[in-house]
Amino acid sequence: MVRLVLSLLCAGLPAAAATAGMPVTVILDLHDVRYSESSLAEMKAEAQRILAPAGVSLDWRKKSELGEFPQFSQVVIFRFTGRCVMDPYATLYDERGPLAATATAEDDVLPFGVVHCDRVKASLRRTFTGNDYVRGNMLLGKALGRVMAHEMYHMFAREKGHPGSGVAKPALTSEQLVRGEMDLDAQTAGEIRAKQGPGASR
Ligand SMILES: [Zn+2]
Repeated sequence: MVRLVLSLLCAGLPAAAATAGMPVTVILDLHDVRYSESSLAEMKAEAQRILAPAGVSLDWRKKSELGEFPQFSQVVIFRFTGRCVMDPYATLYDERGPLAATATAEDDVLPFGVVHCDRVKASLRRTFTGNDYVRGNMLLGKALGRVMAHEMYHMFAREKGHPGSGVAKPALTSEQLVRGEMDLDAQTAGEIRAKQGPGASR
């Protein structure tokens, strides 16, 4: 039985068992979602930067560009909701609910996630000043990358809880979404490495 786990940051999705040294394909489901390519580029770079210490290499693909019978050795899927592009002015968004989520089944975490762009943007509005809106899509992409890295922590570590720190903690403030550095703590990175090591399996 699949259910959604909610947390301050997550509102529910999945994970992948990885084999050390092999890239994990990240499929982006952007159906009917407006997005910015510059945001996506920053999102990919930030998520990869955060997860690199765990030995994770990400191979990004858009669902709309997949062939008829795509095959992947390791894959996670993220669906996006809302408008994944920064508006050049202050807009009121619905801030109720988590920014993202990962699905779980019984005792495992599944490789399916959802990212709510409007909620991420609502959080960013608390910290954005005038100059931030000028580079809004880049900052939105950084925030999305941190949110995705958090969800992939659940998936790769197969951990529903938040015993770690850094990007693996239960909630990220609006400042922590875009300001300063946000990394994977060393212990969590080690746990992910162990789960992905030779002999590891789901
Ligand atoms: Zn979480």
